[in-house]
Amino acid sequence: MTQQKKRTWLKEPLAILAEGAEGGLVVEGAQIAELVPAGGHPGDIDETVDCSGLVAVPGLINTHHHFYQTLTRAHPQAINKELFDWLKALYPVWGRALNRESFRLATRLALTELLMSGCTTVSDHHYVFPAGLDDAMDIQVEEAGRLGMRITLNRGSMDLSEKDGGLPPDSVVQTTDEILADCERVIKAWHDPTEGAFTQVALAPCSPFSVTTELMKQTAAMAKACNCRLHTHLGETHDEDAYCIEKFKCRPVDYLEETGWMDGRTWLAHGIHFNDEEVRRLGKAKVGVCHCPTSNMVLASGICRTQELELAGVSVGLGVDGSASNDNSNLMEGVRHALMINRLKYGAAAITHLDALRWATQGSAACLGRSDIGRIEPGMQADIAFYALDELRFSGAGDALAALVLCGAHRADKVMIGGKWQVEDGLPHGVDVARLRAEHGAIARKLAGAVT
Ligand SMILES: [Zn+2]
Repeated sequence: MTQQKKRTWLKEPLAILAEGAEGGLVVEGAQIAELVPAGGHPGDIDETVDCSGLVAVPGLINTHHHFYQTLTRAHPQAINKELFDWLKALYPVWGRALNRESFRLATRLALTELLMSGCTTVSDHHYVFPAGLDDAMDIQVEEAGRLGMRITLNRGSMDLSEKDGGLPPDSVVQTTDEILADCERVIKAWHDPTEGAFTQVALAPCSPFSVTTELMKQTAAMAKACNCRLHTHLGETHDEDAYCIEKFKCRPVDYLEETGWMDGRTWLAHGIHFNDEEVRRLGKAKVGVCHCPTSNMVLASGICRTQELELAGVSVGLGVDGSASNDNSNLMEGVRHALMINRLKYGAAAITHLDALRWATQGSAACLGRSDIGRIEPGMQADIAFYALDELRFSGAGDALAALVLCGAHRADKVMIGGKWQVEDGLPHGVDVARLRAEHGAIARKLAGAVT
């Protein structure tokens, strides 16, 4: 006898980002079962949760981050620098600061910040593997599981150090063979391609200036063979263009093509400095781009061509990027920054709050190759973020969905993931926030020179 799944009516939110769901929605088990029109009343309900006063959106999806960087926020040696100088200042600090304990706490802290901002699925690009941190991906699975969040593990990598013409020091790179062996292990252990998956794997060499051409090619081949996704930093700065032209005699997008990465399984972090012809090629290949507005403004990297990319067929998602170039992990704040920077580029009428929210939900889901999350629709996973508009900053707002973005929502009141409440009354289950703040701060002071 099959057990009947519990049906919960999330009743009549103040506003909801879903057509025809003014009366709320019904969650059955892990999925959304039905949308309730205005004034409607669904049948066979086991539980009703009053959502009046709350604004509901699909759980936000973060498609680019570096959790470990929470240990080096506002680092005195790195602030006020652009990407290459910023990286050169931080590589040695990261090499010293990362061990299993600090990495676990950094991961827990970043995940908790994201969850509290309304994020339900994360993708972390981890590429620094100093000696002793071989099980970084496994630690991330444990920590995401503790909070009930979905994670795409990006098994990142660097195998090109200063002595071979790369940017990072020798102490933070691995050999090509070591990297490929661990990629294979991580895929076998954690890649779940099924609907509703909580752990998936993407292969993620760091960038053209920290990875060998051989590793780029072999990683692309492995991703195809194992049917997982590919991720890397590309098109972030003019320095990267100059590096590729000098070293590879071509531009970054040509390099992507030469190494077998112009593929629908690839999504790129940043994707700023593409010319018209490159935008067309990326769209034709169905490559995705994770727009990271906050980081791009902090490092003065440039403005992503979101509109041209989407028109060409590229899926545009959203990411906070690492917590040393943001310097926080709040994806709802990223939505607001996306609205602002894109308005500056394209005009106030061309980019709405709905566009910015779409990037953080549907667009991000497409970047991660997922069709089961990112929208509030029957059959989708029940990943939903609810925001209360009771803070001073919302008082007087006339459009509740627009208010989330324009007034600057930054903390969710409730978050559901796969039909389970993981945040209630603004606090996450599974983590003691005060204790986490104390433990993470202590280890960052000890290892990375933090003062708070
Ligand atoms: Zn990044």
